[in-house]
Amino acid sequence: MDLPSHDHASGTLQRWLTGPRVPGLPNLAELPPPRLSFEFFPPKTDKLEEQLWACIRRLEPLAPRFVSVTYGAGGTTQARTHATVSRIVAETSLTPAAHLTCVGATRAEVDEVARGYWAAGVRHIVALRGDPPAGQTVYEPHPGGYDYAADLVEGLKRIGDFEISVAAFPETHPTALSAEQDLDNLKRKIDAGATRAITQYFFDTETYLRFLDRCGAAGITVPIVPGIMPVTNFVQVKRFSAMCGASVPDWMGKLFEGLDEDLETRRMVSVVVAAEQVRLLQANGVDEFHFYTLNRPDLVYAIAHLLGARAAR
Ligand SMILES: Cc1cc2nc3c(=O)[nH]c(=O)nc-3n(C[C@H](O)[C@H](O)[C@H](O)COP(=O)(O)OP(=O)(O)OC[C@H]3O[C@@H](n4cnc5c(N)ncnc54)[C@H](O)[C@@H]3O)c2cc1C
Repeated sequence: MDLPSHDHASGTLQRWLTGPRVPGLPNLAELPPPRLSFEFFPPKTDKLEEQLWACIRRLEPLAPRFVSVTYGAGGTTQARTHATVSRIVAETSLTPAAHLTCVGATRAEVDEVARGYWAAGVRHIVALRGDPPAGQTVYEPHPGGYDYAADLVEGLKRIGDFEISVAAFPETHPTALSAEQDLDNLKRKIDAGATRAITQYFFDTETYLRFLDRCGAAGITVPIVPGIMPVTNFVQVKRFSAMCGASVPDWMGKLFEGLDEDLETRRMVSVVVAAEQVRLLQANGVDEFHFYTLNRPDLVYAIAHLLGARAAR
């Protein structure tokens, strides 16, 4: 059959009808609903506290598997993390996970914090080494402290049968000696008792998918949940990414070009970028997603919706 060509000069329609196709994204109706988790940071002021709770209330109906609360660099938010996690236990239907780090504390002090969580009914810890406290550039284990995250996982398992998640770095941790050494480290954390890894955010989906393959080849079988960061402040993310082992592709710079003073458009671009990323992950069989919310719900809600998440009635 002769195909009609709407533009005889270029044959555009004909090319579209007969040319190679990018495989379509899967139909949402054929996919299981995504499994979600949301990360918050503990607020410093009353105003930020209000913002956090509005965020929690907005995302709660999406019934995430858990929500996690970060632990400030150097353990600076110990009391605030504890207060936020305890309030989540007391006042919501959500299951909290408390982040805990090795930085700036002895083993006995860290164990005490963990026992406090156990007593408050918190059964999930995100166990991390932590970043050096402000003013220090190189990480030094605290004398008498847990040296690295793997040691912390081991210590926590002695205290209680916590569910433990750990960090993973698809682009390799910035101070790791090699990608292999970093993968061995992840394996040690799993062997010590962690049952899930949550990744540093990334923007190049292929890097994450290759990382999954490397984890599989290294015998790591626990879920490696992608950490998704909707970007609203591109300038800040670019600066931060340079320090934390995430690269920012040139195409992203191009998409946010000229928008430094235009928050509304940045937010719309941000949803498109993140939605494309998560749908591509979904098309590759990923059905669990961890969102870095920065205590702001709107973009996360929209992206979760596009993934097929619907509020429980
Ligand atoms: C999901 C997620 C959540 C986070 N939440 C927080 C938070 O709440 N608070 C916070 O302060 N930071 C947080 N971070 C940042 C994290 O603490 C830093 O990225 C930190 O630099 C690494 O932590 P880790 O747990 O991966 O460390 P580790 O797994 O201990 O690894 C750190 C580095 O040390 C190397 N290493 C490990 N063991 C040894 C060893 N025995 N000898 C020599 N080298 C070794 C590893 O290869 C790696 O390069 C988070 C990161 C992620 C991805």
